[in-house]
Amino acid sequence: MASVFALVDCNNFYVSCERVFNPRLIGKPVIVLSNNDGCAVARSNEAKALGIKMAVPLFQIEDIVRKNRVQVFSSNYALYADMSNRVMRILTQFTPKMEVYSIDEAFLDLSDSGGIDLTEYGRKLKQRVEKWTGIPVSVGIAPTKTLAKLAGHLAKKSEKAAGVLNLCRSPYQEKALASVKVADVWGVGRRYAKFLTANGIDNALQLREAEAEFIRKKMGINGVRLINELKGISCYPLENSPPSKKSITVSRTFRQAITAQSELLEAVSAYAAAGAEKLRKDRAVAGVLTVYVLTNRFSDNYYYNSAAFNLPVRSSDSSELIHAARKGLEKIYRKDYQYKKAGIILNDLGPESLVQASFLDSVDRRRSKKLMLTLDEINRGMGAGTIKYGAVGLSRRQRWKTSFNQRSKAYTTRWEQLPEVS
Ligand SMILES: [Mg+2]
Repeated sequence: MASVFALVDCNNFYVSCERVFNPRLIGKPVIVLSNNDGCAVARSNEAKALGIKMAVPLFQIEDIVRKNRVQVFSSNYALYADMSNRVMRILTQFTPKMEVYSIDEAFLDLSDSGGIDLTEYGRKLKQRVEKWTGIPVSVGIAPTKTLAKLAGHLAKKSEKAAGVLNLCRSPYQEKALASVKVADVWGVGRRYAKFLTANGIDNALQLREAEAEFIRKKMGINGVRLINELKGISCYPLENSPPSKKSITVSRTFRQAITAQSELLEAVSAYAAAGAEKLRKDRAVAGVLTVYVLTNRFSDNYYYNSAAFNLPVRSSDSSELIHAARKGLEKIYRKDYQYKKAGIILNDLGPESLVQASFLDSVDRRRSKKLMLTLDEINRGMGAGTIKYGAVGLSRRQRWKTSFNQRSKAYTTRWEQLPEVS
């Protein structure tokens, strides 16, 4: 059975959320600023047309803003997280096989949807989300996640596509690939984009046709996967994807459904702790933690819900993030459901160095940082999980962990997990 993925991406998401509650903003240039550093993190099309670039600091565009009466908003993550939740819940009506990729994007696996007209399906989905939430979305449909991302990118830009582009068995696939710069291909970072263009590989089509061995030498196994994905050979199933830079997600599908709140609390605590560790590794901090749960898609009673928690000060402290995850879970947990998956998403990321002292801050940041450093050092030296938080649970038989153990080793990317020959 051929694989089919859809990427659903909310257009200019934060701006669109503001417009739902303030329709006078429609048609006007609007930007939303990041929490602390005052950079434009979302721009309406009108703002983009004025030349306002992503992540540009407000002080650099003050003239443009004044002359064109650009509407400027501080970010309201609680609102965005809630709107995101509404969008995601609608998507689950189309298929429970969903990966919430970031606050405004989700992948759907439509592989076993039979012979349906996928373009029509995409239009229906787009219409329903827009009608029920007021958020405009773009839909890219293709045999792999990388191609679905690319299709979504084009769907947003092309007038003819009108927000939905299906590249499955499309005669336009090559033309579409040729029109996308390598830098815009999912998984190609800035560094690799530079390397590729320096070697005459400017667009996605050229990357697809590039010699695999050449790419492997520079980009490793992920580069080879990337080429395969562009060829339509699916290498990334749902949830096993390269991480987004906008957010960090830690989630697991349970091998056996979980019903007890206590077990789910342990699970999301563990994910929050893992997320905090990832943040510290990247020297980053997060401003918002979203926790979500979903039930077994085979149960009659499908349930998906999420809750976002605004941290008073952006943080990478395990205990703070665990606390937020538990608070969130308590809000969305309902009895008598068979939970199949849970996860946490960290948003509003920023560099650690930018954490400002706040009078409202009840946490001793210096002490917390020292504690986290010690924790990471011990776990690095003596093995992951040597020291952990009580909230994560100490029992050896944790059902939410089993699928963790089911995962095959990272043979190609971690020295300590290289395959052994005996
Ligand atoms: Mg978006």
